[in-house]
Amino acid sequence: MMNIAIDGPAGAGKSTIAKRVAKQLGFIYVDTGAMFRAMGLYFLRNQFDMEQKSLLEEESKKIDIALKFENGEQQVLLNGENVNGYIRVEEVGKIASIIATNPAIRTRLLELQQKIARENHVVMDGRDIGTCVLPNAQVKIYLTASSKERARRRYEELIAKGEQCDIAIIEEDIIQRDYADMNREIAPLRQAKDAVLIDSSDMTIEEVVHAILNEYEQKK
Ligand code: C5P
Repeated sequence: MMNIAIDGPAGAGKSTIAKRVAKQLGFIYVDTGAMFRAMGLYFLRNQFDMEQKSLLEEESKKIDIALKFENGEQQVLLNGENVNGYIRVEEVGKIASIIATNPAIRTRLLELQQKIARENHVVMDGRDIGTCVLPNAQVKIYLTASSKERARRRYEELIAKGEQCDIAIIEEDIIQRDYADMNREIAPLRQAKDAVLIDSSDMTIEEVVHAILNEYEQKK
C-alpha cells in the first residue's frame, strides 16, 4: 500500500492539504488528530478531572474509537456516535493535547491507525506519523509555517464564521500547543530524518499540494 505521512504543528494547514492530495490520488485521508479529539470529547462530556492521571487510563478502556469514510470524508465514531460536528472547537483540541501524552491512549490509537494504513492507500496527518505510526511511509512531509502566519489563517477562518476573536490570543494558544506537542516524552512532534520540510508561510495551497504530488511521483 502507498502511505503518505504529513506531520507538523497545529494550524499549518495539514488537513486542507492532506485532503486535496488524497482526492487527487484517490487515497483515503486519515486525520489522526480527530481520533485524539474524539477521545478528548469523551473526557470533556464526562467532566473528567484531567489532573487525575491514573484514572485516565482506566476510563479510556470504556472508549471505542472507529473511523468510517463517506464520500471520501472521514467520520469519527465515539462509542458508535458520529462526533464530527463536536470535535473542532478549541476546548476539545486542548484536552486532546493533554490526553495525547498518555501512553495507553496513544498505543490504542496507533494500532487502529496502522491497521488502516496496511489495508488502504492513505494520506495520514498528525504529529508522529512519519516518526512512529508509519516509519516506512514512502513519502514523508513535515509541513510548517510561522506561528504568526498560522494565527492569521485561523483568525481569518473564525472571522469568516462570524466569531469574535483576538489574533494575539490565537497566536499564544498556538505557541503553547506547539510547546506541549514538541516537548512531551512520548511521540513528540518532530521532523522525521527522511521527511521533506515544507514551510508554507509564503506558499499557496496549490503550491504545497503540487510540491507533495511531485514528491510522490519521485518516490512511488
Ligand atoms: O491536529 P489536531 O489539532 O486535530 O490534533 C489535536 C491534538 O492531538 C494535538 O495537539 C496533539 O496533541 C494530538 N495529536 C497527537 N498525535 C497525532 C495527532 C494529534 O498527539 N498523531
